[in-house]
Formats: sequence, C-alpha cells, structure tokens
Amino acid sequence: MSCIFCKIVTREIPATIIAEDDYCVAFRDLHPQAATHVLVIPKEHVASLNQVTDPLLPGRLLCFARDVAAAEGIAERGYRVVLNTNADGGQTVFHLHAHVLGGKAMGWPPG
Ligand code: 5GP
Ligand code: ZN
Repeated sequence: MSCIFCKIVTREIPATIIAEDDYCVAFRDLHPQAATHVLVIPKEHVASLNQVTDPLLPGRLLCFARDVAAAEGIAERGYRVVLNTNADGGQTVFHLHAHVLGGKAMGWPPG
C-alpha cells in the first residue's frame, strides 16, 4: 500500500501524532492553514467520503475531531471541520481525512 496516510498510521513515515484511539489517528498538517490545523483519519484505508460504507466510521471521525478541537483549546471560540472530496472538493490525498482548523476566524464562503 503506497498511501502516505496509511504509512503515518503504521509509523512508516513520521508525523506529529497528537491523539489516537482504536479507529482514528490525529496529526498536525505538514502545511498548516491556521494556528491549529490537525488532520483526523480513520486507521482503515478509505479513499474518500464517496467510498464510505459503514455509517459509524464518519461518526467516529467527527466525534474524534470534536475531541481534538477540545484538547487543542479551540472548542469554545470555534473551529471548522472540513472533508474535501475529489477534484472539485480540493482533495489531494486519497485517504479519508477531516481537517480540524481553528485559532482564527474563518471566512465564508470557502474558495
Ligand atoms: P486535502 O487537500 O486532500 O484535503 O488535504 C491533504 C492535506 O494533507 C494537506 O493539507 C497537506 O498539507 C497534508 N499533507 C500531505 N502530505 C502530508 C504528510 O506527509 N504529512 C502531513 N502531516 N500532512 C500532509
Ligand atoms: Zn490509506
């Protein structure tokens, strides 16, 4: 498997991992777009939201992202959770991931 996020799960490539449970791993984005920019991924390889078959998986991912936001101290002020999907969504890594962004006021609509 050549997927870079799978290799972060197995520690074959380094990442700043900040949290982990049986289903998910959270690590800091290599090119942060906000003061806090964490990626939350399922340990299981799923290419994107389009390939999800188990509805529990995105629920676990989202609740894990919420817990990461709380641990990062951005829950009260607010934060954004983003799942980019395929080309128009801006997805560049094809292992499902939620961006947790915070520490600044976000613009709307996104570009
Ligand atoms: P996407 O554009 O697919 O929604 O987001 C992919 C994200 O993964 C980008 O924000 C990018 O900076 C991040 N990224 C890509 N490769 C690596 C890596 O090897 N390590 C880490 N920590 N982040 C990465
Ligand atoms: Zn993968």
